Amino acid sequence: MSVTEAQLESRRIAGEALAKLKGQIEKSHDFYQVRSSTGDKFYKVTPRDEGWFCSCPDFTIRGVPACKHIFAVQFSLKIRETVRAAGSNYRAIQRFKMPLLRF
Ligand SMILES: [Zn+2]
Repeated sequence: MSVTEAQLESRRIAGEALAKLKGQIEKSHDFYQVRSSTGDKFYKVTPRDEGWFCSCPDFTIRGVPACKHIFAVQFSLKIRETVRAAGSNYRAIQRFKMPLLRF
């Protein structure tokens, strides 16, 4: 069974929600650790030349093109870029209503 657009969209939404929570994503040297929904473990999200990879069952077993952990990291990176580009524009940072990320 292939993954529908709607299924991918639900992961994108879940990923964005995850990215807005504090302490869910930690950067290691060449990958990110994203806390699982149950909160008891971290999944490893790695950017590779051939695309993003995640160690969660949704990605490795179900084979979705992108899971919520990947979307969460991508969304965080996008926010960082926006914040950096905004410089001292506080309003742009406020728009996301989230704590500044440490990485
Ligand atoms: Zn995942």
